[in-house]
Amino acid sequence: MISFIQNMTLLSSLISVVDVAIVSYGVYRLFLLIRGTRAVQLIKGIVLLLLAVPVSNWLKLSATHMVLKDIQTMLIVAIPIVFQPELRRALEQLGQGRFFSQVMVYREEVDVSRMIDELARAADRLSRSRTGALMVIERQTGLAEYAATGTAIDAAVSAALLENIFVPNTPLHDGAAIIRGDRVVAAAAFLPLTDSAQPGSELGSRHRAAIGISEQSDAMAVAVSEETGWVSVAIEGRLYRRLEDRALREMLFRYLRSRPHPPSLSRLWHRGAPS
Ligand code: ATP
Ligand code: MG
Repeated sequence: MISFIQNMTLLSSLISVVDVAIVSYGVYRLFLLIRGTRAVQLIKGIVLLLLAVPVSNWLKLSATHMVLKDIQTMLIVAIPIVFQPELRRALEQLGQGRFFSQVMVYREEVDVSRMIDELARAADRLSRSRTGALMVIERQTGLAEYAATGTAIDAAVSAALLENIFVPNTPLHDGAAIIRGDRVVAAAAFLPLTDSAQPGSELGSRHRAAIGISEQSDAMAVAVSEETGWVSVAIEGRLYRRLEDRALREMLFRYLRSRPHPPSLSRLWHRGAPS
């Protein structure tokens, strides 16, 4: 009888361990999902607010406490609206069965190195001729809804094709080209603009669109500025500007070839806002 009770206790503590592990893993994956996006800043704000509620109560600041509690209630309604892109990405990942797996290898069957080489060559030439361009590379999140806003194309990625798409005053130059695997699937696509660009930053709509798509999806966007000729990459809601050919290739390889390295929780917490 005693051993039966011992077994039951052991079983229930085992279940508790599994229970806690599941919740911790879920929170960790959520952190991975929002890392480097504006959501990090928002979450910091929310955590501060949640801490301020008991503190104000403890300090007997009754008016402050009342207002903070009201704000807390409002947050319950506001969170799904504010975090809509992140929640959507989480549900998409869940649907693709990726939320619980770290394996996020880019489609292996396509020749990624060739695609990267052609893309980098195009970016270099476009940059030299100061031709504005925006090229988005799909990863796990499907970009079909954005591709549908443009003109469908189905052609192998080549430097010549990409350069040709962005020739000024031609029908397809205005908007973004979308690349899936080693094919250009659309051109002149309209992307969502970010609203997180820092106030006072001189980013125009091309670069805001590049950041926007990298917030709404896990895609990588390569922008060439027609004003400066600079090549920039947006990924995970951040914009890396003025990349040389080598740095661009390295970034493309890093994100398209390899598995992502899950960052540590402390690094996630300290990730700043997109620049
Ligand atoms: P640049 O440095 O090349 O001037 P920019 O960031 O200053 O770029 P704009 O000068 O506003 O941006 O660039 C306008 C071009 O960016 C448009 O002609 C269009 O091709 C592209 N663009 C603007 N908004 C979008 C969008 N939402 N989706 C896709 N492409 C866009
Ligand atoms: Mg401009």
